[in-house]
Amino acid sequence: MSQTKYVFVTGGVASSLGKGILAASLGKVLIERGYRVTIQKLDPYINVDPGTLNPYEHGECFVTDDGAETDLDLGHYERFLDVSTSQANNVTTGKIYQTVINKERRGDYLGKTVQVIPHITDEIKRRIKLLGETGKYDIVLTEIGGTVGDIESLPYIEAVRQLKWELGAENALVLHLTLLPYLRTSGELKTKPTQHSVKMLLESGVQCDILALRTEFSIDEDLRRKIALFCNLTKDAVIEVRDAETIYDVPLMLQREELDKVVLKKLGMSLKKEPKLTDWKEFLHTFKNPESEVKIGLIGKYVELKDSYLSIHEAIVHAGVKNNVKTKIRWIHSEDLEELTPSEMKAELSDLHGILVAPGFGGRGIEGKVRAIQYARENHVPFFGICLGMQCAVIEFARNVLQMHEANSTEFDDTTKFPVIHLQKEQVDITDKGGTMRLGLYNCKLKENSTAHKAYGETNIYERHRHRYEFNNAYLEEFKKGGMHATGINPEKSLVEIVEVEGHPFYVGVQFHPEYRSRVLTPHPVFLAFIKASKKYRDDKTKKSAKTKAAKTVS
Ligand code: GLN
Repeated sequence: MSQTKYVFVTGGVASSLGKGILAASLGKVLIERGYRVTIQKLDPYINVDPGTLNPYEHGECFVTDDGAETDLDLGHYERFLDVSTSQANNVTTGKIYQTVINKERRGDYLGKTVQVIPHITDEIKRRIKLLGETGKYDIVLTEIGGTVGDIESLPYIEAVRQLKWELGAENALVLHLTLLPYLRTSGELKTKPTQHSVKMLLESGVQCDILALRTEFSIDEDLRRKIALFCNLTKDAVIEVRDAETIYDVPLMLQREELDKVVLKKLGMSLKKEPKLTDWKEFLHTFKNPESEVKIGLIGKYVELKDSYLSIHEAIVHAGVKNNVKTKIRWIHSEDLEELTPSEMKAELSDLHGILVAPGFGGRGIEGKVRAIQYARENHVPFFGICLGMQCAVIEFARNVLQMHEANSTEFDDTTKFPVIHLQKEQVDITDKGGTMRLGLYNCKLKENSTAHKAYGETNIYERHRHRYEFNNAYLEEFKKGGMHATGINPEKSLVEIVEVEGHPFYVGVQFHPEYRSRVLTPHPVFLAFIKASKKYRDDKTKKSAKTKAAKTVS
């Protein structure tokens, strides 16, 4: 078995430069060359995982097949690379310390003083090498979260220094991403912050091998030469990363800059085949030149920070491109809908061609979600409810169709007369919040000829979960009689995974999170069907209004 090679991606000068997209894009090009690649993210915070973080703090929490609650960058990796990640792909300082402290308590270090170096750094190194040791990958890209110089990142940089030394220059390299700020007054791109950042890495004993420069403007040859000279690099190792129109431009941009070639050369690997990225280019072409537009309302309570719904946003975009439409998303705060009169509600939502109600936790904004779903159900607007969005659909149906006026989820009202959404027995006694939800991949059997079945084209599916509460099966019959059907059931536990309302053109509520399994080039089937239905709704509406106009002219 040949040695797995490691590329460490670090960041300097500023945060939010797009290390995740850089890593995902490089990974994509390397896969197109014929290599087996995976990406790992090391996060320097003390939370064991981001599952306990507020989305406002950190954006969405991405969930893997094996139930890891991870950083949202893993979503980019999966979507770009079309490979699934796992527990091993996201490591936090919390996880590292938890392991080391558990070992200490077990007596594994008996007699020794447990210290950052070597114990913490050894654990970091072990976690980095875990993926490489599976033998499944030729290259592991490891993104180090944070910015060089942060106190929290120091043990990670030290681990990188040691690994570079242990593995040798041909087996490990550091790709450092920094910012070249543009000074408008002098009309210049400034290199000094980058020089300082490279020096700061050097102070920790790490010479970067490739420098990627995030910039608003093109970097000319002289500037490249200057940066190379000051940063101990050859000119070809200075890579320009221009601000892009879309994240999907980045793989092609990096390919033009020949980053993949530089990486492979430095790692002593052959170039294999030329990356064509044909499907990717097609995707990008349609993305930039769609035939028409559909308007989707995304109703949630964290809408101020778009990253809170990153995977849903991306899944809508992927499905839009496959349907040859631009998906114009209107972000709607569920709390803003709570006090609206029915006519105000109509004014607010009537331009939408599809309504998606987002996942979430806690009671804030619930009534707004319920009202939006009522609007979608009664007006036959395509509706897609995800996790909490599905639970709200069940609450809405119970209240307004089945006349259980006080129906609720016990998450919001634990004394409700009609607990249509409730906790499963095994959840009742759980008090710990971290990692205790129903997480990861579960099987679901679909009812023949349901909307979901038609979308998936098969009856046996697997989807990722992240929730505690479930549909209360005691009400199953009543819902069925009223016209809401459970069209997807988890066979092991008879849990309701999908609900649909009969006689509605597209009404699908899913207890799982389909957005986590949508990929740039293989959109998720239910998102595809939802956008298709929204497109049809738009066309029917246009036809109808043209008819009424014509009728008016005649009369
Ligand atoms: N709060 C709900 C639950 O825990 C829904 C969770 C979600 O939308 N991810 O079941």
